[in-house]
Amino acid sequence: MRILIAEDDAVSRAILRRAVEKLGHGCLAASNGGEAWELFKEHPDFDVIISDWMMPGVDGLELCRRVRKHGHTDGYTYFIFLTALGDKEHLLQGLEAGADDYLSKPLDRDELRMRLTSALRVTELHRRLVFQNGELEELNRLLFEQSRKDPLTSLGNRLRLREDLEALSAKAHRYDHSYAVVICDVDFFKAYNDRHGHLAGDDVLRRVAETISADLRGGDAAYRYGGEEFLILLPEQDPLTATAVAERLRDAVQGLAIPHGASEAASVVTLSAGVAALPASGDPDDLLRKTDSALYAAKKAGRNRVSTSD
Ligand code: GH3
Ligand code: MG
Ligand code: MG
Ligand code: MG
Repeated sequence: MRILIAEDDAVSRAILRRAVEKLGHGCLAASNGGEAWELFKEHPDFDVIISDWMMPGVDGLELCRRVRKHGHTDGYTYFIFLTALGDKEHLLQGLEAGADDYLSKPLDRDELRMRLTSALRVTELHRRLVFQNGELEELNRLLFEQSRKDPLTSLGNRLRLREDLEALSAKAHRYDHSYAVVICDVDFFKAYNDRHGHLAGDDVLRRVAETISADLRGGDAAYRYGGEEFLILLPEQDPLTATAVAERLRDAVQGLAIPHGASEAASVVTLSAGVAALPASGDPDDLLRKTDSALYAAKKAGRNRVSTSD
């Protein structure tokens, strides 16, 4: 273990230090509480502090309070008070300040060994807890991400869309900002599956998603909205610029030149898209409905085209 000694009496300090080192521990020794505090702040990863009670300046009690308030980097600092016979009455005060144990003066080596054995058990337990906590936090973060991601395309799913849309619309409302929505839908996709098989269909969805992601600028976000439907949120964009984005995407997907033997719109896989922008009524669901109607209009007008809500 890494052990810090705070003791103003030079002889006691030297004896204690030698005893600690003889037990195989790394040891730093400070000649008063202030010096110990500076050492701890520099390396807040001491496993054990053995501190005298009475010291000039920062005394043991104050040192203990500061150490507890500051905390250990990734575990726990076990705090042991050195107490002369008359100090026993202070013990409760020490424990309340966060100390774990005490060691009587003059030093008894067996007692020291017992205290350090307990200290090792406690600090190892804390280290394990900190480690497990870190793992749990990481797992939580992964689960959080996973639950908001579409596994096929790696785009955000409906849950993430719902959260982002709410945040975006709240911001738009508060700062009087606008945003636009594009919904893209693969044309005759059921027929594609029927003709080329579902696995090939999955591949198309992945490639379309990649094409959409590659085209987006920072701040824009794409989601898998339904089976073969993708939604794009475009903060700060008006219907005109959003229509240009949708047109570019439509063009890029057609440019992939994925043969579609069963499409009535083209010989390759194509998209239809609907576009709408705030301010509608300011209600995001209303905006989605308008975008959907625009998509429907694009389908009705012959597919492989973009339609913008008025
Ligand atoms: P339209 O041109 O009017 O959009 O017709 P469509 O056939 O594309 O639309 P429809 O809603 O009739 O069919 C959507 C199809 O998308 C049906 C479904 O099998 C397919 N689909 C949905 N999710 C997936 C998926 O994850 N993988 C594959 N391969 N197909 C999917
Ligand atoms: Mg002293
Ligand atoms: Mg559809
Ligand atoms: Mg479709």
